[in-house]
Amino acid sequence: MASQILLTPVDYLKGVGPSRADVLKKELSVFTWEDLLLHYPFRYIDKTRFYTIGEINADMQYIQLAGTVTHKEMAGSGRSKRLVARFEDETGRMELIWFRGLKWIDGYVKTGQRYVVFEKPTFYNGKVSMVHPEMELLSENKKEFNTSLQPVYPSTEKLKKFALDSKGIMRLQHAILAEVSGEIPETLPAYLLEKHRLPSKGEAIRHVHFPPNEQALNRAIARLKFEELFFIQLKLLYYKQVRTRRFKGIVFDKVGDQFNTFYNEKLPFELTGAQKRVLKEIRKDTLSGFQMNRLLQGDVGSGKTVIALMSMLLAIDNGWQACMMAPTELLAMQHFNSVKKLLEGMDLQAGLLTGSTPMSERKVIFEQLENGTLPLLIGTHALIEESVQFRQLGLAVVDEQHRFGVEQRAKLWKKSRQVPHVLVMTATPIPRTLAMTVYGDLDVSVIDELPAGRKPIITTHRYESGRLRVLGFLKEEIARGRQVYIVYPLIEESEKLDLLNLMEGYDQIVRAFPRPQYQVSIVHGKMKPAEKDFEMQRFLKGETQLMVATTVIEVGVDVPNASVMVIENSERFGLSQLHQLRGRVGRGAEQSYCILMTGNKLSKEAKVRLETMVRTNDGFEIAETDLKLRGPGDLQGTRQSGMLDLRLANLAKDQQILREARECVQELLGEDPELTLPENQVLKNFFLQQHKKAAFWEKIS
Ligand code: ADP
Ligand code: MG
Repeated sequence: MASQILLTPVDYLKGVGPSRADVLKKELSVFTWEDLLLHYPFRYIDKTRFYTIGEINADMQYIQLAGTVTHKEMAGSGRSKRLVARFEDETGRMELIWFRGLKWIDGYVKTGQRYVVFEKPTFYNGKVSMVHPEMELLSENKKEFNTSLQPVYPSTEKLKKFALDSKGIMRLQHAILAEVSGEIPETLPAYLLEKHRLPSKGEAIRHVHFPPNEQALNRAIARLKFEELFFIQLKLLYYKQVRTRRFKGIVFDKVGDQFNTFYNEKLPFELTGAQKRVLKEIRKDTLSGFQMNRLLQGDVGSGKTVIALMSMLLAIDNGWQACMMAPTELLAMQHFNSVKKLLEGMDLQAGLLTGSTPMSERKVIFEQLENGTLPLLIGTHALIEESVQFRQLGLAVVDEQHRFGVEQRAKLWKKSRQVPHVLVMTATPIPRTLAMTVYGDLDVSVIDELPAGRKPIITTHRYESGRLRVLGFLKEEIARGRQVYIVYPLIEESEKLDLLNLMEGYDQIVRAFPRPQYQVSIVHGKMKPAEKDFEMQRFLKGETQLMVATTVIEVGVDVPNASVMVIENSERFGLSQLHQLRGRVGRGAEQSYCILMTGNKLSKEAKVRLETMVRTNDGFEIAETDLKLRGPGDLQGTRQSGMLDLRLANLAKDQQILREARECVQELLGEDPELTLPENQVLKNFFLQQHKKAAFWEKIS
């Protein structure tokens, strides 16, 4: 079979010996020719023309110039030591600057020689310069490969030691393409290529590495992006329908005592219109005879928890057990406490299971879960450990923070004899494109309305110089009976320094807010769960007015009387985290505030984040901005979902392609759900091959 050639181990490529093969495997996970072909360039150098120094302007990207080095010298010393060369052509002069690899560069760059340089020009003090340009002797600058846009590949220090810098990788790509010529198998059916006007796979792969011109490159990239997104959607939607066909859905056909008692006697407020709508959607799902897999999106404070609770009561009324899983112990504990409070006076037992539940209690819980006497369980990921088995789990709620991928969700299916309904709640809104990709197999409900009477939180950005005024403001708020959070970053890489920072912050706060007039709580991740809970409870009961904490406070913590959130070093937080933190206030009817403290030096991105926070309270808007700033790869935990191993497609920029791909798959599966039509065999084959790679999926098909 023609495609087999692509599975040739990379060791057997011209120019790759055992040591290069080894480093390719270790550094890039490249094992076969195919893997290497999928190592795409991340940019291209325009070799279609030479520019002149006189033409350079501030907006230019990477350009190519030819000229002479007329002078060079070492400047600065120690860490600022650098090599500065003067580079001239007929139209002007500029500086070339190097900070690293000085010895080698100094040897290579000779005064009086003619060179070709590639780099993005920069302007510094009104002068043009290039930092770390790529250099080539003009005499050697011949067209080595048949391309006008020279690919630039990601490489690593280790790869470079084996001469596998961008150019080295380019040579290998060239070698593979020479070997395989026409043998890159097509993965999309011809009729789809035609319909979407996409080039063949072979052409796309050849042109993404060696584009003859920009138009061909764009066509190649469009095809490869489409394919990437298409197969993700095919996987999600194919298995969604398999699941729908195979799993019989538990039917909750009655609304019983627990639900009614809670609704009529316990619920302390009127549900919002959006909450009612979502509850109806869940009710419809659980009546349908199909297994529910629903994503509940809603901004912080929109009231997802009570919806979860009422859905669980519905399950219990129908004789099934229900569980709810939270991302942290603190949150599980808090859910447990608030659920117990909401259910007070009702005849309903709830259990709590976390990593720190003692063995003796565990045993009892396990027993009661298996014999069905415990109807409601709240906990952390401890809930999906192998040893936990339910007698009749009817509904699993996952309150998460983008941490729970499709594989983990599948673990829930095995917790009981019949597959339970699954309700996933996101802690913050996620952009549509991301939802379609990470949660593309779920139906979506949105709570797009906050409970009545909430005032929008007022957000301000303050520098260190404004600290005294901020402290004064906190005192005023406390005097009015309100409570305050002060949150510090705690990042793993700088954990010790951050902890120190937090402790110093705590001392500072205690000095500014002396006892006995003021009481200050502290909570951080290094404390024992029981201690954390103790401090949280003190704050919740209003025994302390200030809560100094790290981001453990981020998710879901609910103290309605708290009206001010101060975030220290807020420039170090990501947008969704800032929004989550801010969501801890504004839960009561009082005006609430969020104060973003920063140092004076802010990166461009940090400024955008802070400005966004000050401008809007809309979680969906913030999520979109976050996606644009960071790209999905960096969004919390999404990597784990395994859905985002995107090589080319970008969920922020390629929304249109994603939509097209999803619609295309929906149409396709509508007409040929089992992929049995001859024209779809190519899809089925490719799909099965992918499918084998992911052992998990085999289990459900
Ligand atoms: P989140 O969606 O962030 O999980 P919660 O479920 O924690 O939000 O709800 C936030 C707060 O709003 C809680 O104190 C909750 O009791 C309250 N709440 C929820 N629904 C309503 C409502 N319809 N009217 C008034 N308050 C509500
Ligand atoms: Mg919540």
